[in-house]
Amino acid sequence: MLEIVPVKAFKDNYIWTLRDGKLAAVVDPGDARPVIDYLAREKLDLVAILATHHHADHVGGIPELLERGRVPVYGPRGEPIESLTRAVGEGDTVTIPELGVSFAVLDIPGHTRAHIAYYGADCLFCGDTLFACGCGRVFEGTPGQMYASLEKLRALPDSTRVYCGHEYTLANIGFARRVEPGNAALSAREARDRKLREAGEPTLPTTLGEEKATNPFLRCLEPAVVESANKYLGARAADPVRVFAAIRDWKNRS
Ligand code: ZN
Ligand code: FE
Repeated sequence: MLEIVPVKAFKDNYIWTLRDGKLAAVVDPGDARPVIDYLAREKLDLVAILATHHHADHVGGIPELLERGRVPVYGPRGEPIESLTRAVGEGDTVTIPELGVSFAVLDIPGHTRAHIAYYGADCLFCGDTLFACGCGRVFEGTPGQMYASLEKLRALPDSTRVYCGHEYTLANIGFARRVEPGNAALSAREARDRKLREAGEPTLPTTLGEEKATNPFLRCLEPAVVESANKYLGARAADPVRVFAAIRDWKNRS
């Protein structure tokens, strides 16, 4: 049976490891060392590497992992990632036969120009685009692109388990509560996730249903979110993209 395990890297990155029997694949190995240690400890053989975008904290470990044996490396078409063996984009399918899984590739630009997500088996690996109760910064794309990418993810089933690239949840909830002070689901989430962190547990995966109820960046049509965006802007945001851009900007400055 497929299991998905977080391997911690750097300060708050998660390298998601998919494993079944003696075989494993990793998503976004920014650092090779923790992956090598985990594989050795668990006696697993690496069979594939998946990357969501070109930032070093997601791909930096790939060359060193490949020195230990060649495996297919999937990543976005149109981003500078060393040692990709297959560049993929929207409409492509990534199959890992050794683990019995397939993922549809979704283009979700905004954080970077060609950021992708992998979606399959009711799981979503979305790198730095969607975070638990937050979203990534818009570095290479426009707010309009990022908003469209988040809406694309939002359209997936509520049951989808969301595996993000970083543990940012508690800080994100703190900000979300400023945007939506009256959202009861947020207070419940904060209590639960705080307990998890105090116990040293990840708050991930989250689910899309949970994100729809609490993540302000997926709630740009909610009157309370619109009102907060307008207050921040000191003007009326003309459309949901401007609401999104306003709260993203507010978060960047807070
Ligand atoms: Zn990134
Ligand atoms: Fe990152």
